[in-house]
Amino acid sequence: MKTVTLLIIAVCVLSAGCARQRTVQRTETIMGTQVTITVVAPTTGEAESAIEAGMGELRRLDAMMSLYKDTSEITKVNRAAGREPVKVSPELIEVVDAAAEVSRLSKGAFDVTIGPLVVLWQMRLKEGTVPTEGEIGRVLPLVNYHNLVVDRKASTLFLKRPGMIMDLGGMKGYIADRVADLFRQRGTKNALIAVAGDIWALGRREDGTPWRIGVQHPREKDRVLTVLELSDKYVCTSGDYERFVIREKKRYHHIIDPRTGRPSKGTISVTLIGDRGALVDPLAKVPFILGPDKGMAFVMKLGAEAIIVDAEGRVTTTPGIVLQ
Ligand code: ADP
Ligand code: MG
Repeated sequence: MKTVTLLIIAVCVLSAGCARQRTVQRTETIMGTQVTITVVAPTTGEAESAIEAGMGELRRLDAMMSLYKDTSEITKVNRAAGREPVKVSPELIEVVDAAAEVSRLSKGAFDVTIGPLVVLWQMRLKEGTVPTEGEIGRVLPLVNYHNLVVDRKASTLFLKRPGMIMDLGGMKGYIADRVADLFRQRGTKNALIAVAGDIWALGRREDGTPWRIGVQHPREKDRVLTVLELSDKYVCTSGDYERFVIREKKRYHHIIDPRTGRPSKGTISVTLIGDRGALVDPLAKVPFILGPDKGMAFVMKLGAEAIIVDAEGRVTTTPGIVLQ
């Protein structure tokens, strides 16, 4: 299991407000990753039932979007690649639409059809090797978001070529958005929803102050780059230090450059802050592919605050962020 990169610091200062609120936190493994939901509510019972509802929503969306479940909607679409469009739920259309939009905006640096490369790399690394040039060359032409057809009217998805695989691993932010929506609907205003490196900070902590989220240095475990104070914001961190393996003395991580078919180089950590997980999570992959400079320009254009660390350990931020 991956280590949680963002430190969640929840301190209750003993004030009048504190006495009226309760903070409850629970961690589960969903989507093969650690999920922690923290809720501030007037009673422990209310906080617990919000957490239960949130975890239920995560499990439901995972069942729909997981590549690793035989019965998921996305698996059905992938199995029908090259054959026929598949009718899916409006939610799957919505998340795939958001992923396709970032694929277009980034000209394929983020590519929602990255699946064949993800699967190939996962398989070979598990076996203790790396894919050969030939294997990469064979699957590379299958990665092309232009060959994904989203028909909103008919509510269908179609992958034009046999062997194509849609992968929503870079869209966990959408899932976090849905839990945040659910909380807002049920009146849960103050909560922290952390899906691995993706965090929705809703409202405030028990003592009325913003949530405090530490951003870890990608190479120095005990060094915190900055502590973000967030309220009603979404923050996502992707790094090459979370999930990686060393093979033949090289580090292989899980963000793949669709142009080369190999794990990206040049950027080692990206933290983005914005208002919508379905946009910020996929955007956070782009600086890994475009490199730190072009990547920073790209995410700034789309209105996100950012912290980017390059392979030499240089840290660049947007003007709103103060480093420690
Ligand atoms: P986490 O799994 O911790 O949320 P990330 O947010 O960094 O990690 O997402 C990594 C996932 O994104 C990969 O496991 C893969 O499913 C997907 N992915 C990797 N490279 C790309 C890419 N170039 N375009 C789209 N998705 C990608
Ligand atoms: Mg993520």
